[in-house]
Amino acid sequence: MTKIKGLIEDISGAIRVTKKREEAFKNAKDENLYVDPINQVARALHPSPFLVKVIKIEDVSITSRMFTFQAVNNTLPIFQAGNYVSIRVKIGNTVTSRPYSISSAPYEARGENGFFSITVRRGEDGTGFVSNYLYDHLKIQDTLEVEMPFGHFYFESLRDSKDIVGIAGGSGITPFYSMAKEIAHGTLDYNLTILYGSLSHLDIILEKELDEIERKCDRVKVIHVLSDENAKLNPEDLKGYISRDVIKKYSIDQDPKNGKTTYFICGPLPMYKYIKGELDGLNVPKRRIRMEVFGTDKDVSKIEGFPIEVKNEQYKITVVRGIKEDVIDAYANEPIIVALERHGILIRSLCRSGECGACRCKVLEGEFFIPKDVDYRRLADKRFNYIHTCSCYPLSDMKIKITIL
Ligand SMILES: Cc1cc2nc3c(=O)[nH]c(=O)nc-3n(C[C@H](O)[C@H](O)[C@H](O)COP(=O)(O)OP(=O)(O)OC[C@H]3O[C@@H](n4cnc5c(N)ncnc54)[C@H](O)[C@@H]3O)c2cc1C
Repeated sequence: MTKIKGLIEDISGAIRVTKKREEAFKNAKDENLYVDPINQVARALHPSPFLVKVIKIEDVSITSRMFTFQAVNNTLPIFQAGNYVSIRVKIGNTVTSRPYSISSAPYEARGENGFFSITVRRGEDGTGFVSNYLYDHLKIQDTLEVEMPFGHFYFESLRDSKDIVGIAGGSGITPFYSMAKEIAHGTLDYNLTILYGSLSHLDIILEKELDEIERKCDRVKVIHVLSDENAKLNPEDLKGYISRDVIKKYSIDQDPKNGKTTYFICGPLPMYKYIKGELDGLNVPKRRIRMEVFGTDKDVSKIEGFPIEVKNEQYKITVVRGIKEDVIDAYANEPIIVALERHGILIRSLCRSGECGACRCKVLEGEFFIPKDVDYRRLADKRFNYIHTCSCYPLSDMKIKITIL
């Protein structure tokens, strides 16, 4: 408690303090010496979208290119091997984004000349809206806007064992390449056996680069499992698919049920479904399985619960942003986020797989469909009618309220 010394002492004390303050202001330097370490860490971990420029482009398979970036203004944010970044692009009238796993290692992003890479696989027949754009048009020195690294697909020593079997399909190899590099550098402490499914050697992404890591580091092993009947096999390669027998063979003690192996899976949706069946068949407990998100089903009309009769319907969505209202066309068979982006309405998104919630918005009116597999909404979101627009399809005219960007 402050002791009152008496009126005169208090008044003269206040005058002395005021004088000292004025003196301090007069002598103060122009630069801001105030450092806020908590905000500094928060900003480093969760930066606003930032600009990067392309510094290197390499072909890493006949259909895939690795793009390496450096930050334009600031240093690169911290990330974990296995994280992804969301790349923003403008193609025609569409402003959109796609997530790409970071395929370089976290240690390479540190320091003044730090960099990070993504590896983009060209889309096949009629697909590849963004991937083909990046693959065909991105040049050295081009700049792009990128969202902070994100995702839950990384090794966590409190949770995961030090014996990891990574199961990859197609471009799902990219986060494992980042992990393998970090292990070889000595900054991640676990053993990684990658079972990598491809059609043939021609389709393997980062093959040469993976071979090199395997040669340098005995904690990383890569087994290619090739499904094309005519695929030529190297001595260690396996033919067929990544079946439960293959998974068992490369698990610690060949005991997937009771052993310690943690399984990390990254690949296209059909592969997830198949591998999940194989792991269930081996009675692997759920706590030892980690799955990366990898988009939504290409054809929503084939998903259980979707009312097939509205498959080709077109609806109107009224989009409320503050006091502004726009009415846009949307199709029953495309996620609401795609309809927004086709009309040039910017909405934040990271995973585009229903998981992260960055594209969350409130439904004011209307019916919609969310496939069970990608419905990651919280209980409160369901109760108060919030949706993740990347995994939600309109089933009637709708009215939604989105955040102004
Ligand atoms: C966590 C994560 C990590 C990933 N990492 C990688 C990786 O390392 N390498 C890699 O190659 N891929 C990766 N992917 C996949 C990648 O994000 C893209 O899905 C992939 O490149 C295909 O996108 P696309 O636009 O080329 O394909 P498309 O199949 O053409 O399009 C996909 C979506 O875009 C929509 N679309 C089509 N036309 C338009 C339009 N005019 N306007 C707006 N939207 C439109 C489609 O409706 C569809 O929903 C990753 C995905 C996830 C979720």
